[in-house]
Amino acid sequence: MSLKMKEKKKIIRNNEKPIQRLRFTVQILFAALCIWIGVEFYLFVRYLETGGTVFYFNRPPGVDGFLPISSLMSFYYFISTGVIHSAHPAGMFIFLAIVLMSLVVGKSFCSWMCPIGFLSELVGDFGEKLFKRKIILPKFLDYPLRSLKYLLLGFFLYSIFYIMTTAAIKAFLDSPYNLVADVKMYYFFADISQLSLIVISVLFLLSIVVRNFWCRYLCPYGALLGIASLISPVKIKRNTASCIDCNLCAKACPSNIKVDKVKTVLSDECTSCLNCIDACPVSDTLHLHTFISKKKKISKKTAAIAIVLIFMAVTGVGMLTGNWQNNLTKEEYLLHYNYMGSYGHPTGAEGFRKLNEQTMKDEKDHKINSNKN
Ligand code: SF4
Ligand code: SF4
Repeated sequence: MSLKMKEKKKIIRNNEKPIQRLRFTVQILFAALCIWIGVEFYLFVRYLETGGTVFYFNRPPGVDGFLPISSLMSFYYFISTGVIHSAHPAGMFIFLAIVLMSLVVGKSFCSWMCPIGFLSELVGDFGEKLFKRKIILPKFLDYPLRSLKYLLLGFFLYSIFYIMTTAAIKAFLDSPYNLVADVKMYYFFADISQLSLIVISVLFLLSIVVRNFWCRYLCPYGALLGIASLISPVKIKRNTASCIDCNLCAKACPSNIKVDKVKTVLSDECTSCLNCIDACPVSDTLHLHTFISKKKKISKKTAAIAIVLIFMAVTGVGMLTGNWQNNLTKEEYLLHYNYMGSYGHPTGAEGFRKLNEQTMKDEKDHKINSNKN
């Protein structure tokens, strides 16, 4: 009976142009920008390594975007004090841009800009060609593994927003470790330890077998963006009246969401890649929908423009308000570089607690000394 009814449905072909080429272009441009930042940063570190004897290259502020914990702390410090910390100001604006993108257009950063997401996608495509199918982990493995990224996110949020006081956050942001965290990160990869290399290689191999292994199971940044995306007013809607249940949307979804079974895609795993909408063969059946505009339906192109514009606008505010470059001079960098090996950071909740205690003790000592004077 239901099959007969489906056969009767008048099918109007979906002639809308796919958006994937544009998405790929944005991914390539963003990856090129990251590589450019990497080259500039390498030249900056060379200057430090040679004790300032070679040509000085400005440190590219965009490297702050690769310091998500420091950026999260800067954000916390900003909302607690109204002050933008000067150690890695660009990091906080990049963080805000990425979160705002998720609040407006879903977890779009992951599939439109993130270089790791882009690499994961390429590796996943290779894996599917290699195995001639998409390997999906069974639910009893997939669900617990997906919770790992939330546990990691929970740990960071608990440590920063609950355990640490504003004074301790400031102490961390002011610390020499945080000031040169970017240089330390450079050496993490340039002088990679055997263990780190093994871990990265294993993740790489797992991403060939299971698409987006890192993003789906382990990335705490993705977990945060997934939560933010749930309140985004832009959602993918399926018109059940015109849908022919062909299942092409679900097959095209890299996040294994059963788009063909729901009216509205409400998933923390949806990355707004729009593959499902591109794959739908019936006109006006799968579309982006928003309840805040009278028109309700929004085009794929509008979403793409919004994604890019939000990123450019928020980072642009950072640049135009003078909160982009940090205020460390090259002489200060050269000085820090010599002692960098001895700089450590608090580890685990206990480490953050100790930092709190130390900060309180320092404040108390400072007050006593001021009163004496
Ligand atoms: S539901 Fe659609 S937009 Fe979301 S991840 Fe799947 S294919 Fe991409
Ligand atoms: S692609 Fe999905 S939404 Fe479009 S007709 Fe097929 S099942 Fe329905």
